[in-house]
Amino acid sequence: MNELRFDERVVVITGAGRGLGRAYAELLAARGARVVVNDLGGSLQGEGADAGPAQAVVNAIRGAGGEAVANTDSVASEAGGRAIIQAALDHYGRIDALIHNAGNVRRAPIKEMSLADFKAVLDVHLHGAFHVLQPAFARMCEAGYGRIVLTSSVSGLYGNQGVANYAAAKTGMIGLCNVAALEGAAHDVKCNLIAPGAVTRMAEGLDTSAYPPMGPELVAPVVGYLAHEACALSGEILSSMAGRVSKLYLAETQGLYQPAWRIEDVAANLQRIGDQREPWVFPVLPSGQGDHIRRSFEMARRG
Ligand code: NAD
Repeated sequence: MNELRFDERVVVITGAGRGLGRAYAELLAARGARVVVNDLGGSLQGEGADAGPAQAVVNAIRGAGGEAVANTDSVASEAGGRAIIQAALDHYGRIDALIHNAGNVRRAPIKEMSLADFKAVLDVHLHGAFHVLQPAFARMCEAGYGRIVLTSSVSGLYGNQGVANYAAAKTGMIGLCNVAALEGAAHDVKCNLIAPGAVTRMAEGLDTSAYPPMGPELVAPVVGYLAHEACALSGEILSSMAGRVSKLYLAETQGLYQPAWRIEDVAANLQRIGDQREPWVFPVLPSGQGDHIRRSFEMARRG
């Protein structure tokens, strides 16, 4: 296969000053992309700001012969999101791909989590996704081309202790991605999710000494594919961790039909309702929702 390149393409990557985002920026720039390296540069909790990380990545890309520009606006505000997309338009006159990767973490059990900490995490991950996606999406639809990659997480999708804010944001990303995939389909605008796993500063406090190799560079090619013109997916979730790449999806049991239900019927039929043999999978495109409704109605009509 020919090398998949990004020549002439303009890619915006949020949170690209460190960790995974940096690896994405360096890979795509090495493949010819002009990259807007966004990073607020704050702490893991999302406090403070530092222009250093974004500029360091831009310097590294330019030093390697690539093209990039730094941006230090925060994804956590609507104005920040608009300014990040505007930076691509001001510097390069277009936007072809958006990778929303910026993230913060504030851990606490639900009983102790303050509303401020809950909101601070949603602001960067989920609201941040909308803040950059919305202005980029409009441009992409107009241009008839676009690739969007949003960032989820297995700790969000499957849950984990002490991260209710993070899990809510990372699971909320599925709905946003699905609708962007549906609304973008007619304009060749594709939207997918990456659920990455890599040792970065997010692993702070964990003993990673027994982990297999899992640097961000193992995830970057997967995100590179999703951001490329050749990407054949939309409305999908790819996971990449320690060299294993897989697809996550929603599945349903076939379910049990009855013309009427009592609370006791649910209790008595849990096994049949939850029978996971031969699950149904409804891909987002062309219409997972439509297929779900059609099959439910078919069962009801058959009785
Ligand atoms: P990281 O902390 O190394 O990088 C995140 C970057 O986002 C930082 O450089 C930070 O300054 C930036 N950022 C934070 N708030 C911002 C804001 N408001 N505006 C702009 N930039 C901001 O973490 P990472 O591990 O590289 O994480 C990248 C993404 O991958 C995150 O969305 C994270 O939730 C997700 N993720 C990571 C892992 C993992 O194993 N590392 C697992 C699952 C999901």
